[in-house]
Amino acid sequence: MALSNIEWTQMTWNPTTGCTKVSAGCKYCYAEGLSLRLQTDKVNKYRNGFKVTLHEYELATPYKWKTPQLVFVNSMSDLFHPDIPTDFIERVFNVMNETPQHTYQILTKRDERLLQVCAELNWTQNIWMGVSVEDERVISRIDSLRKTNAAVKFLSCEPLIGPLPNLNLENIDWVIVGGESGLTPRPMQKEWVLDIFRKCRASSIPFFFKQWGGKDKKAAGRLLNGRTYDEMPEIS
Ligand code: SF4
Repeated sequence: MALSNIEWTQMTWNPTTGCTKVSAGCKYCYAEGLSLRLQTDKVNKYRNGFKVTLHEYELATPYKWKTPQLVFVNSMSDLFHPDIPTDFIERVFNVMNETPQHTYQILTKRDERLLQVCAELNWTQNIWMGVSVEDERVISRIDSLRKTNAAVKFLSCEPLIGPLPNLNLENIDWVIVGGESGLTPRPMQKEWVLDIFRKCRASSIPFFFKQWGGKDKKAAGRLLNGRTYDEMPEIS
């Protein structure tokens, strides 16, 4: 477990680390760069760099947190990666089921695997499930998400690298939008953001604007319409 700088969560929990790229949103994967840096720094958890690695000992971690936490699961991996055995995914879910005092946010780009295994999983109220939607090409991930029994279904439109004119927000409970940052970020148009914002407002869906991104993401900030949007679903 680690405190997180990610604006929409409190901390991260990584029972697995490592991944492989699957779509355009992965191009400048933050987890890859950080994993390789930690491998160079000889951090044991990252001894395999960005190769998918299971960390059994992490399954005990959430039981030790003394106060309720909002937790981003697998910020350094994708829980539905094909190299993660289904029984390990079930064990991760079991931990979440047994610690209802915490709220868990899972985010995937592997909607096909999610669909394959979702019927085997116990979707207690404290599990929020999200898919990344960086552009129109991966919009069908949202249909897969809708088929799960997750109590809270959310979208992370980050890095938003194209418009989403056909975005359907039916049965979606939360939307996060953010631009790419780094050395050569792909720019995000304000009109793309406003289009998503208007659709959220029309359906009363909480909208979280994470950042404009760019080469200097601090300078670009996170104001939209002159204010911040940090809306979230209610934690039950
Ligand atoms: S799915 Fe996520 S963790 Fe995996 S390579 Fe893509 S951005 Fe990185």
